Amino acid sequence: MLAQLQGIKTTLVSIITVCLVFFLITQLSSYWQPWLDASQTLVYILAVVTFLFAAQFSRSRFSLLAVFWLLLYLSLEYKFTWLSQADLGLVTLTNGDIRQSSWLMLIGIFWLGALSLIKNRGLLSVHSLTRILLFFIVIGLAYVWLWAVAILQQNYQAQYGWLAYFAIELPILLTSLLVCWKSIKSANLFASAVASTLIIWCLYYYQLLQLPWSITVAVLLCHYLLAVIIDSYFLAYRDELTELPSRRALQQLVLSLGRNYTVAMLDVDHFKKFNDTYGHDIGDQVLKLVASKLAKVKSGGRVFRYGGEEFTVVFPRKSIEQTWHELDQLRQAIADYQMVIRQPQRKNKEARNKGKGKNAEMKTVSVTISIGVAMREPKQSFEQVLKASDQALYRAKKAGRNKVCE
Ligand code: GH3
Ligand code: MG
Ligand code: MG
Repeated sequence: MLAQLQGIKTTLVSIITVCLVFFLITQLSSYWQPWLDASQTLVYILAVVTFLFAAQFSRSRFSLLAVFWLLLYLSLEYKFTWLSQADLGLVTLTNGDIRQSSWLMLIGIFWLGALSLIKNRGLLSVHSLTRILLFFIVIGLAYVWLWAVAILQQNYQAQYGWLAYFAIELPILLTSLLVCWKSIKSANLFASAVASTLIIWCLYYYQLLQLPWSITVAVLLCHYLLAVIIDSYFLAYRDELTELPSRRALQQLVLSLGRNYTVAMLDVDHFKKFNDTYGHDIGDQVLKLVASKLAKVKSGGRVFRYGGEEFTVVFPRKSIEQTWHELDQLRQAIADYQMVIRQPQRKNKEARNKGKGKNAEMKTVSVTISIGVAMREPKQSFEQVLKASDQALYRAKKAGRNKVCE
């Protein structure tokens, strides 16, 4: 539930920010008008930088978005005549103005929908071929759609007036639902970038956004670039499994720590045995749940996943006495926490039949943690304090586990 809320929040923030930026740019037109020529060069630079940067950080979907916008930009800037004047039988592509091309509009809509369904894959792999194929499928699908709707309209438009909305508005609605669902489900910056792009694309088509094409594309490319940078930052400083800050983030915090602080090392008890009993996947789920409890630490504590089943909490400007109660409460809360975990699918049919019913999929388990705590002594380095808390942790283990020791 929390992840879904996070997804909605990320998407809303992204959409509002992008719309606000476009509104501001529209208002400040006198500032950028003299630079309009330069903005055309900027589009190429931004497209190349976004493409390479996203590819470097394994965010190939952003690369594909950048390529797509570059192609659109080229086709609109250089007014590819085959796009505006091609004789495609029943389908009226445009009335001369390429910006009003229903085909182009639909290609954009379908491509955004397709991008929200695929995964990030290496650009220098066989997957790129399937992506190129997908792009051509999207182009074909958009054409077939318009063609089918044109036939429907020709025969039934008189009886069913709403058929007029089938060509563009229905695909917009369906793609919007897909994009909304994806951004709620996956809560990542790509999903929200697709959502805001979809809105800008629609505003552009309905001529509610009257900016020069080069400015629109440049702003969208800046948006992708920023999203890739933020995403890569999270990749480096967040632990993927528990979503806690990683050890690298701890190293960053160390640089800003003052003279007084307390460090606690936390370690899940007998976790190897737990993995052996329940399997590695359930072990992962438990680590996530333990991390979610630890993330609620008070007294200004900052939690990090140190590695494996070990966590570190740093309390800046706090003594052991000031943190002891909080740490003991954490230990107690985890020991009392009955974690409901999802059992993986049973392998054979008989076992699956035995475990029929909803409850068969769920299981309750619990773990305990041991904590070692140390305060910085004068002239000690962070590494020395960490070592002291690790030795305290060892004592907590020796004393029977599920304990806090100093
Ligand atoms: P102790 O009470 O002394 O800490 O015993 P322990 O078994 O927890 O300690 P040990 O360090 O021997 O084992 C840690 C285990 O944690 C080994 C490994 O299987 C497991 N582990 C480490 N990282 C992960 C992870 O990301 N996921 C899962 N499921 N298990 C992990
Ligand atoms: Mg350990
Ligand atoms: Mg352990």
